Amino acid sequence: MLFLQGGATQQFSMIPITLLRNTGREAEYLQTGYWGKKAIVEAEKEGKVKTLWSGQADGYKRLPDDAELSFSEQAAYLHYASNETVEGLQFHRVLGPDSVPRVCDMSSDFLSRPVDADRFSIIYAHAQKNIGPAGVTVVLIKKSLLDSAQEQPNLPSFLDYRNHVATHSNYNTPPVFAIYVTLLVTRWIKDVVGGLENMENINHRKAELLYQAIDDSQGFYQGWSRKEDRSYMNATFNLTTPELEQRFLQEAAQAGFSGLDGHRSLGGVRASLYNGLTVPAVEQLLDFMSTFERKHR
Ligand code: PMP
Repeated sequence: MLFLQGGATQQFSMIPITLLRNTGREAEYLQTGYWGKKAIVEAEKEGKVKTLWSGQADGYKRLPDDAELSFSEQAAYLHYASNETVEGLQFHRVLGPDSVPRVCDMSSDFLSRPVDADRFSIIYAHAQKNIGPAGVTVVLIKKSLLDSAQEQPNLPSFLDYRNHVATHSNYNTPPVFAIYVTLLVTRWIKDVVGGLENMENINHRKAELLYQAIDDSQGFYQGWSRKEDRSYMNATFNLTTPELEQRFLQEAAQAGFSGLDGHRSLGGVRASLYNGLTVPAVEQLLDFMSTFERKHR
């Protein structure tokens, strides 16, 4: 387990540099949204990439069903994002064959729920959603994968995972404060929340309250993602017109709610429900939403 810098974005490159560059093999990627696509762009610089499925034509409103996915047992690795932060799409299952190294960007849902980590060859997640402040990225990587990875000539030392493993994430000055806060957060999850199962239950409760309100609004609020792929971390929705959305965001800001604007690439509204957000905070948002609906319906 490594504590690295460079954000999840640095992992978009370090992974294919380590597992794809100069191998002549093909890696399989899922283009499920804004972040899945960014990972593909970087991997393509390092070798052959097969986009196994893309939601782009549908505007990234849903994730693939199993029947739409045909994995190769020969792939160098399989990469996907467990939660697409921008669109609000989350996989509620583990993908791919166990015989292929499974690599997952869990930046926006790591430590929000239990994960069967053994089934993944690499899990990476920046801290700044559920586990601490920006500046540190957690990378869990199977040692056997590194042992079997091809030597890459002239690889900058900083980009070589093995240097970080050998020095226990102390290859250069680590972001100690950010790492320290992740310690406090993991203690809080364990000792105060009572573990990841409880964390997941709280996160589900928050999301279910919000999605219920969206679904009960008879079209006044419209959920972005297909219901079965909805994210427990980022609830994305629209109102009936862009003008009404602007009004909603303005009045929400006046009422003290910040950060509800959708991502710049998508617009709309996005309520992020990360570990730090409480159930009462969601209830306050629901009060605001129903008042706004009565006023503007
Ligand atoms: N992957 C996902 C799923 C993300 O949500 C983000 C950023 N929010 C990134 C990657 C990029 O992370 P960073 O800004 O730490 O490089």
